[in-house]
Amino acid sequence: MTARIIDGKAIAGEIRSELALQVKQLVKEGRRPGLAVVLVGDNPASEVYVRMKKRACEEIGVYSVVHSLPAEITQEKLLDLIDELNQDPKIHGMLVQLPLPSGLDESAVISRISPEKDVDGFHPLNVGRLWIGGEGFVPCTPAGVLELVQRAEVPISGKKVVVVGRSNIVGKPVISLFLRENATVTVCHSRTENLAEECAQADILIVAVGRPHLVKKDWVKPGAVVIDVGINRVDGKLVGDVDFENVSQVAALITPVPGGVGPMTIAMLLKATVDAAARS
Ligand code: NDP
Repeated sequence: MTARIIDGKAIAGEIRSELALQVKQLVKEGRRPGLAVVLVGDNPASEVYVRMKKRACEEIGVYSVVHSLPAEITQEKLLDLIDELNQDPKIHGMLVQLPLPSGLDESAVISRISPEKDVDGFHPLNVGRLWIGGEGFVPCTPAGVLELVQRAEVPISGKKVVVVGRSNIVGKPVISLFLRENATVTVCHSRTENLAEECAQADILIVAVGRPHLVKKDWVKPGAVVIDVGINRVDGKLVGDVDFENVSQVAALITPVPGGVGPMTIAMLLKATVDAAARS
């Protein structure tokens, strides 16, 4: 068997086109969606992500503004900026690019963002809403994972989903989202015994660890759907957490790295911003 590829780049492209139409309509109604991104310090990876986010906004007609602050900014000044953006009617979504330089209190900063503008879905209120089933923002990468599975028309309800990784930004929200879709969810992490056996139970295997090629062919049930969230750089090339070449001989559907989950993250950020403007 050779797995069918779930083409995240193409699906993200479809989502962006759908959003561009929605933005056009909102602009006609005088409600252009607006996203503010706060970047502190000069972490090169963060700078790249922020540039990509800004360009993606421009492409679909979303207003965007980047606030670049020096690493020495005080906590108080950073919180003042967030207060200002919370009040700004042009801004429907806001995010602070993580990680923050040392000396700044990440959780205090995230908690200061208005939950109604928290497009990253990291505010404790939105985390709680996700778990108790309320409406709120969902972290973008996990939302992208669910969207990929749904757009590939993979049934979720009643299926066995195994999630490897339990971080606050990927693993835990993925668990919550698939539970909400009535999957039977198993969570694995660095202390899990018999990880291979756990993975081999999965109808849908979602891996978010950050270890190149961790998941081998014999960890995957024939016909399973495999979603690889991992991004690792090996010899200058990007690879996932799944041994793609061999696993794709047994899986029915698989996401590549790059071009799988990656492009979905920004698409879902745009969607969250447009949805927030539509609700405003
Ligand atoms: P973290 O490092 O925060 O979490 C990694 C998780 O993997 C932890 O829960 C850890 O377990 C678990 N883990 C570590 N080693 C093993 C192992 N040998 N076996 C089983 N579980 C293990 O990473 P993130 O969740 O932030 O990111 C995960 C991956 O996803 C990374 O490669 C990252 O680059 C990528 N990523 C991709 C995004 C995208 O596509 N846009 C966005 C965000 C992340 P424990 O909790 O026990 O320590």
